[in-house]
Amino acid sequence: LICLIYIAMANANYYKYKDPKQPLEVRINDLLNRMTLEEKIGQMAQIERGLASPEVMKKHFIGSVLNGVGNSPALKASPEIWINIVNTLQEGALSTRLGIPMLFGIDAVHGNNNVYNATIFPHNIETHLFFPFNFLASTRDPKLAKRIGAATALEVRATGIPYAFAPSVAVCRDPRWGRCYESFSEDTKIVQEMTEMIPGLQGDIPANSPTGFPFVAGEKKVAACAKHYVGDGGTTNGTDEGDTVISKEGLFSIHMPPFHDSIKKGVMTIMVSYSSWNGKKMHTHRELITDYLKNTLQFKGFVISDCEGIDRITSPPRANYSYSIQASINAGLDMIMLPQKYMEFIDGLTLEVKNKIIPMSRIDDAVTRILRVKFLMGLFEKPFADFSQVHELGKKEHRELAREAVRKSLVLLKNGEADNKPLLPLPKKTPKILVAGSHAHNLGYQCGGWTIGWNGLGGNDLTTGSTILSAIKDAVDPSTEVVYNEKPDANFVASNEFSYAIVVVGEYPYAETVGDNKNLTLPYPGPDTITNVCGAVKCVVVLITGRPLVIQPYLSQIDALVAAWLPGTEGQGVADVLFGDYGFTGKLPRTWFKTVDQLPMNAGDLHYDPLFPFGFGLTTKPNNNQNLFPMYSRKRFVSSF
Ligand code: BGC
Repeated sequence: LICLIYIAMANANYYKYKDPKQPLEVRINDLLNRMTLEEKIGQMAQIERGLASPEVMKKHFIGSVLNGVGNSPALKASPEIWINIVNTLQEGALSTRLGIPMLFGIDAVHGNNNVYNATIFPHNIETHLFFPFNFLASTRDPKLAKRIGAATALEVRATGIPYAFAPSVAVCRDPRWGRCYESFSEDTKIVQEMTEMIPGLQGDIPANSPTGFPFVAGEKKVAACAKHYVGDGGTTNGTDEGDTVISKEGLFSIHMPPFHDSIKKGVMTIMVSYSSWNGKKMHTHRELITDYLKNTLQFKGFVISDCEGIDRITSPPRANYSYSIQASINAGLDMIMLPQKYMEFIDGLTLEVKNKIIPMSRIDDAVTRILRVKFLMGLFEKPFADFSQVHELGKKEHRELAREAVRKSLVLLKNGEADNKPLLPLPKKTPKILVAGSHAHNLGYQCGGWTIGWNGLGGNDLTTGSTILSAIKDAVDPSTEVVYNEKPDANFVASNEFSYAIVVVGEYPYAETVGDNKNLTLPYPGPDTITNVCGAVKCVVVLITGRPLVIQPYLSQIDALVAAWLPGTEGQGVADVLFGDYGFTGKLPRTWFKTVDQLPMNAGDLHYDPLFPFGFGLTTKPNNNQNLFPMYSRKRFVSSF
């Protein structure tokens, strides 16, 4: 009898869901069956870190927390501070009756970009270019994207965070869109290939995986998020959050394929787009979310809303919040990103379930998927982060990888004049060179949006890295004098004996709608700097930009033109290629237009008349013997060759 009592007691304390030896679906069902409606709805809420506390986590059974970009705990917060924040909220979640761990997510879209001292990789527009390819002999190397995903995962985990809202798999069809730089390419196939970033972030799916997902227990990998489903890159005039007017065939051949690849590669979450398809908000699109994504494609992870995405179903936002809740949840959304007023969501959803406007089966489906990801992530076994991984943040190997990515992705658009004398690579040893331009010595501009601040920040204090100016100083021969002048006038340039000049100009940081731009002109004082410098001395213009800009009017003044996109913290990658330690190999991921009235214009269009076509990019050979290079004449039209 005593034995039986012991067995009964042991069984009473035995919860299948807590037993890692039980199959995944058994654990999920066991836990789901124990949950109340309140506990289930809490799981579906993702609230902003600023509103979260252990008490809130506990009281409302909150399932997830996000740290919005720009909402850093302190500008220079250490990984230890981040870990403590995550762990403190986790304690609150675990102190609930069933002890379900919460999932903390962050926008790590080019490295762990919210965090001081993290390696900031180039934005995706640049990432696509990792593989030097041409159309005849394709030698693509998406493995580099995978390596970047893996390094990003380590740096995100270093701060105790297990979930990244990345990558964007948008196919940007119009550079006027403020998120074009988050897109790998205008070309669907390239975006599909670059979904290799997903197994980098999450790990590979093991050959014998019973779940179809990688198992991400431990500290080295994060859950990824393919975004934004679907058609965000195809809106009319490139309007952010706009309407994608396109046939079903068009949507499925241009914008959908990267999601197919993401699912094949085991992506655990998919974020829905703010945009609409032919007038219908994606956040309400049951056919595309439930029927296609979940039923046809058999996606088993969870579908997350965009931030306030359900609020924006109506115009103005929240005009009819109960409609927003029922339309989005019934369409198939599982987790709702709620930066504020999360109680309205929780109360509203509870009421709609009680009133049977939203069926209980829908709630169970949502919670099943959320729990699946949490089990896969190993959060039940290891809910707390420790400090053992903090050394991964900004470590040398990751910075080397980012530098490699930068140099492989620069695109050389012009090199020399009609006389065919190339200017690049530049000699390292020469008496005096000029480095000019608003972007030459500005780490913030180099990194672009989604870096510490949501819209990015200017200046050199936001994080650590090398600016293009400092990289140039490191690269040249010690005898070479480097003169830096941010905004030189023509007299200054003419009255100095410069051998050549490097002008670094471009766009100022932006994110999302703020970056929508109908003109795409080179921002002030870029044109003046180009005229003042290039009118007097041979010049290389390096463009820091998230997209092609109107450049044709300046082209005749410029000797060599380089698209450096948004290279991130490792400016040395730019110097590596300018001075010939490595050759230029990158190719355009986008069509470079002549005038904005040609837009949208993509490869394959009927009247394709670009300034530089998709796939264009000149090459240079590495220059092994720098001393053989001649010196340049000061006057650009009087050649001393
Ligand atoms: C963006 C998403 C992002 C989310 C959370 C939204 O405004 O559209 O891409 O993941 O904010 O920061």
